[in-house]
Amino acid sequence: MEQSNDHMMKNEPFEEEYIFEKLKEFKSQDLTYSSGRILGSMCSEPHPLSKKVHMDFLESNLGDPGLFEGTKAIEEEVIKMIASFLSLDRPYGNVVTGGSEANIMAMRSARNLYKEKNGIKNQTAESFEVILPKSAHFSFKKASDMLSFKLIEIDLDDEYRMDVESVKESINKNTIAIVGVAGTTELGIIDPIEELSKIAIDNDIYLHVDAAFGGFSIPFLNDIGYNLPNFDFSNEGVSSITIDPHKMGLTVIPAGCIVYRKKNYLDLISVDSPYLTVKKQSTIVGTRSGATSAATWAMLKYMGREGYSELANGCMINTNFLADALFKEGFNLITKPQLNIVSFNHPKIETNDLVKSIEDKSWKVSITSYPRAIRIVVMPHIKHTHLMEFMRDLREIKKEFDV
Ligand SMILES: *Cc1c(COP(=O)(O)O)cnc(C)c1O
Repeated sequence: MEQSNDHMMKNEPFEEEYIFEKLKEFKSQDLTYSSGRILGSMCSEPHPLSKKVHMDFLESNLGDPGLFEGTKAIEEEVIKMIASFLSLDRPYGNVVTGGSEANIMAMRSARNLYKEKNGIKNQTAESFEVILPKSAHFSFKKASDMLSFKLIEIDLDDEYRMDVESVKESINKNTIAIVGVAGTTELGIIDPIEELSKIAIDNDIYLHVDAAFGGFSIPFLNDIGYNLPNFDFSNEGVSSITIDPHKMGLTVIPAGCIVYRKKNYLDLISVDSPYLTVKKQSTIVGTRSGATSAATWAMLKYMGREGYSELANGCMINTNFLADALFKEGFNLITKPQLNIVSFNHPKIETNDLVKSIEDKSWKVSITSYPRAIRIVVMPHIKHTHLMEFMRDLREIKKEFDV
């Protein structure tokens, strides 16, 4: 290795064969979804169709859409199809790199809308405030830093949802946006968006819904009778929604979407892009993949609402199996799963120790920060047999701890 690194540093040309061999070595250090060992990720193995289509569009650049008009049309169709799941007929938006970029765009729109409404020309930054639940994704911390607004974190109620009364109390003249989450990253909880929507309308405040994770399951689960809370544009106060095809949509990374109710929200964050074929650009990223739009388009057509319902339902069946099995073995469930996330701990085992024992048995789980627990995201790559094996290992671990 030492020697070949030296050789590498000189950057002399290598044979393809050598290159593939070396890359294979690197890749062998990665975990794979198909092993079933990745229990704490919101991504999953992309569908083969998505990979194939992605390959076909690798040279397209939606940062310069005048050169790739066909791919641009695909992106627009993706936004339209996704918006149709979200009860919006005439959407505006983009397929971006993921939920983080989508959330940052939404916060930029909200801030600029506030500035426009209040006739603010310069960045009187420090005073801007965004109200969001304690359970919000860390991408809002990035947005807060980049856009200079304060995060007003709202406590959660008994069911780990954003507490609506505290939202009302936190609104003031500096509030530029309220954020609700439909499918929180840690627990998969859906905030009371209907109530937030009313508050947003009453106070004329921008409301963004982060459905990065839940957006690709809630509508499809409701199609088959799950009765999950409404989080979409049918709530008049909702201004924008983040939704990630690269999570429950089975598409290749990087695919996230920002969907806006009004064209103005997108215009408010556009800048001149003089040397390109299109004179305005709103995305954070400049040169950007058209391949993920094509792959997402293909998956949406291929799966249809029905296919996605089946996929999400399969994950929920496994989720409920896991939750029941954990409960029977004496673990604490933090909450009854609303989506395909199970968080748990044990009354007599320190969570850190439990994690260590689980990882010693070659599983990868993640840990929630509030409350502290082990978090399993039951994605499509996790099969019933993996969960049976996992439960067997947990029973052994319990013995090791003598509980
Ligand atoms: C995953 C997630 C994000 C971030 O999305 P990326 O695609 O990782 O950038 C944002 N919000 C929520 C609720 C998420 O679950």
